[in-house]
Amino acid sequence: MFLNWRFLQPKARGVHLYNTKSKKKEILKPLKAPLVSIYSCGPTVYGPVHVGNLRSYVFADTLHRTLTVAGYKPKHVINITDVGHLTDDADFGDDKVEKEAAKQKRSAKEITEEYTQAFMDDLDALNIVRGRYQFPKATDHITEQIEIIEALEEKGHTYKTKDGVYFDTDTFPTYGELGGVNLAQLQEGARVDVGEKKNAADFALWKLSGGAKRLQEWDSPWGIGFPGWHLECSAMAISHLGEQIDIHTGGEDHIYTHHNNEIAQSESATGKTFASIWMHNAFLNFGGEKISKSLGNTTLLKELDHPMALRYLFLEAHYRTPQSFTKESLAGAERALGRLHLFADSLKDVKETYVANEYLNKFKEAIFDDLNTPKALALMWEMVRDADVSKGAKKKTLSRMDRVLGLEIFGHRLKIKIPHEVQALAEKREEYREKKDFKKADELRDLIKEKGFVVKDSDEGFIVEKLN
Ligand code: AMP
Ligand code: ZN
Repeated sequence: MFLNWRFLQPKARGVHLYNTKSKKKEILKPLKAPLVSIYSCGPTVYGPVHVGNLRSYVFADTLHRTLTVAGYKPKHVINITDVGHLTDDADFGDDKVEKEAAKQKRSAKEITEEYTQAFMDDLDALNIVRGRYQFPKATDHITEQIEIIEALEEKGHTYKTKDGVYFDTDTFPTYGELGGVNLAQLQEGARVDVGEKKNAADFALWKLSGGAKRLQEWDSPWGIGFPGWHLECSAMAISHLGEQIDIHTGGEDHIYTHHNNEIAQSESATGKTFASIWMHNAFLNFGGEKISKSLGNTTLLKELDHPMALRYLFLEAHYRTPQSFTKESLAGAERALGRLHLFADSLKDVKETYVANEYLNKFKEAIFDDLNTPKALALMWEMVRDADVSKGAKKKTLSRMDRVLGLEIFGHRLKIKIPHEVQALAEKREEYREKKDFKKADELRDLIKEKGFVVKDSDEGFIVEKLN
């Protein structure tokens, strides 16, 4: 009988992850192993993402890589929020995209496309391989969002106000089970503007345009308007991953409002537990302060000399520990990565031999223990310095470790810019392939070729490359 050893490994080792919901580490038990469904809250594309946001995605990517090494098959969504995220993160204020479009005197589409592409370029620079992910857009899921509101309305979870349709948190007794801290309120000492809401915690599912013509608005059973930000994530998660998902990730600022709201509306609509494990990364701080665009202290990846040093920096801290982003901490990461590349160069002509199992096993133990990347990095360096391990073994073991670290230890691939439009075609082709509709998949492959790119398939997803 043929046994795939990779699928046996998780049982043998077990991956433990800290669950914000239970407040303890839990062993991962995917609903449909070896498949693991993961939803990671993606960026709001009204501007470039900053290095703080990128901590969220390197963390999500480290999780993805870890699960792959453990023998699982992640199905992973990172959404693109291109409508409905209001400036105060709750139910009032302007839509961030709408506001930026007005400021730049451009269309909403121009704004969201530009910053989606910029985000994709950042992912490429950080070796977050796009073919491993799906990137659905909120504006492509308006129908699904309306359907969820209809289901909620039918079950008596909603009420209407002058400005929209709201979720009634009184109808969901376990509301707020993730806990969390209302960061915005703490910082601003702000009074909560409840408007016509029955409870401060109630939140908008659909906001009405209310006579004002908006750049992005849709008809709905309740009138012309746009969906609430929280609802978008539930709709995209459910339509791409199903009503029950294994892991949901995001930054810790999303726990209190966004994720408690996602749980309330998803579980009320479906009657099922939405996500088994909730994982949250701590913030990247800049000179003691939170990085945010409104504080004006943002740094962009493209401003850094060595983007990959940012990935190294993130790996140096555990994802649940707040981390400082300073000139010194970045320079330290650059130096360490430089040393690693230098060592890798010295192995250029060395033939890989065997895996140094005593190190690789400890390395896996560390990352399978709630992604302990600082420990994993320390083990990697210990092996590099160990005179008892041969060069051939070091080379082989390092490349195995790099499957998780993603530092491109043995040479940077030549980076090319893949247009988001081509990426979207490649994702669509993958969907057809999954449905075994090879005719349509081949048509898309040809279309991608016409645009000057080629899709290559691998066990870990597809890769798009430029045609020579
Ligand atoms: P947003 O576009 O504001 O929804 O943020 C995208 C992701 O980045 C979310 O998961 C946020 O929680 C996360 N995030 C925002 N700022 C930071 C930061 N300074 N450090 C780490 N994660 C952050
Ligand atoms: Zn979200």
